[in-house]
Amino acid sequence: MAEKIQRIKGTNDIIPGEIEQWQQLEQVIQTVMTRFAYREIRTPLFERTELFARGVGEDTDIVSKEMYTFTDKGGTSLTLRPELTASVVRSYIQNNFQQTSPTVKLWYQGSIFRQERPQKGRFRQFHQFGAEAIGSPYPETDVEIISLFWEILIQLGVSDSVTLKINSVGDEESRNAYRDALRAFLKPGLSELSETSQRRFQTNPLRILDSKDPQDKELTRDAPRLLDYLNDSSAQHYRTVLSLLESLDIPFQQDDRLVRGLDYYTHTAFEFTSDALGAQDAVCGGGRYDGLIGDLGGSDTPAIGWAAGTERLLLVMEALGKKVSEPALDCYLAVLGEAQRPVAFNLLREWRAAGLSCDTDLQRRSLKAQLREANRQNARFVVILGESEREKSMVQIKFMDTGEQTEMSFDAALKKMMDTQ
Ligand code: ATP
Ligand code: MG
Repeated sequence: MAEKIQRIKGTNDIIPGEIEQWQQLEQVIQTVMTRFAYREIRTPLFERTELFARGVGEDTDIVSKEMYTFTDKGGTSLTLRPELTASVVRSYIQNNFQQTSPTVKLWYQGSIFRQERPQKGRFRQFHQFGAEAIGSPYPETDVEIISLFWEILIQLGVSDSVTLKINSVGDEESRNAYRDALRAFLKPGLSELSETSQRRFQTNPLRILDSKDPQDKELTRDAPRLLDYLNDSSAQHYRTVLSLLESLDIPFQQDDRLVRGLDYYTHTAFEFTSDALGAQDAVCGGGRYDGLIGDLGGSDTPAIGWAAGTERLLLVMEALGKKVSEPALDCYLAVLGEAQRPVAFNLLREWRAAGLSCDTDLQRRSLKAQLREANRQNARFVVILGESEREKSMVQIKFMDTGEQTEMSFDAALKKMMDTQ
């Protein structure tokens, strides 16, 4: 026997029995996005590496160690997308979206690739869905986009198990002031910080607050708080966001260590986490990125967005017992004898077009085996077409709930099945 080929570690097959949960989630996402007037966008699975190096940031975990990067035959460095904001912004600039409307609201979903150590809730090919609102600097946009994700959680029945954590990193002026204060605070203990944090002390000191290293956490415990360094307009922006969230009854926790270290991030930063998950508890991350579009060659345009992990949200749903049932088969058509097949196929075509889910035997099996298959699939009706039935243009129809069986015309059988849907 030839050797069996296994899938790549960190990737998943989403098989029947699981796909139903995905479809339900995707349905809710699409419905809520449409209600909030966001339009779907689909961009390529791979882009020039430079897009992510600039759009995500060289100093991030994603770019420094997680990307699937390769050189194609033309010698161009390409990368499988490790997130979607950079691609959406690239597309926004390339397609001149700013000409269509002052605020462009987009949503997406699809595969994401990151070379990480696979574990529960952490894969190498996974899925995200997300939303971006491009063009408005005002805090009401921040609130709209946060409430969009909150509404998806409500529709899925999981909002009680998810917590919104929020912070503000202010505008450039506020962040510069804070960066100086943070450096001054960290300087005396600099050599005790982890290697990465020592490097980030120069490049990106805000990200040190984000470090998972226990020693770093200890050393930064009493670090100055970003909120104390917000200038008036940044503080005002943040206050408006929080008060609008309150008026919408969206619960939140302020988390002054929630930072985004790159220069293009401004003002609101947020994350949704769930206790229903283990160590990988983040279901969604987002924030304002007023500097990104300019950094990627567009004209300066304010924007805010979030991205949610589909697998993690499905884990939350599973932990809370939100399972949808598998699809039911309406009709199993058992066919006896080759000569009946053209009629059988025409019946199937008509019944399927009418909206019934129908299956039939493709193994040329006995009636007994076909009935067993109908049972296995939990068919609501079994319809039998043999030679004598076909000659009279009739079928036998068996009601699987009562076990009763009668003979009917083709039309009557269809009507019966439709009436009891
Ligand atoms: P984490 O801290 O868990 O590594 P992250 O900060 O890298 O998350 P983002 O880049 O903000 O995550 O991506 C948004 C969401 O995508 C996360 O909140 C999470 O739900 C999901 N996610 C991120 N990485 C993975 C992965 N490797 N496998 C599955 N889901 C992931
Ligand atoms: Mg990560």
